[in-house]
Amino acid sequence: MLTYYHSVPDIPTFIHSRRGNQLILLAGYKYSVQSSKYCDTPIFIHSRRGNQLILLAGYKYSLKTRNNCGNNTFKMRWRCSTHNARGCRATLLTVDDNIVRYNQKHNHDPVVK
Ligand SMILES: [Zn+2]
Repeated sequence: MLTYYHSVPDIPTFIHSRRGNQLILLAGYKYSVQSSKYCDTPIFIHSRRGNQLILLAGYKYSLKTRNNCGNNTFKMRWRCSTHNARGCRATLLTVDDNIVRYNQKHNHDPVVK
């Protein structure tokens, strides 16, 4: 289920606009940070079972897929850890340790206070 990609993935380039906003260039597309609310740094952790997790803005994400893009670059898709329990559809996309895309439409409050 790789609906996001149509071609060989590129490595993202982080740039700043003239106004100082952070932008990401990826595969010929430009992404802007929508809200400072989501600018928290993702924290990569491991669960007690050894699964990789991300903590971000009080929400927890579990790893869904991991694609090797070559050059030791990994593109990883994450989904909210409550996906199974509550049907939450929030997702993250990271390349290396950087978030390049997110859908923060949680149907519940943050799980980590
Ligand atoms: Zn959620």
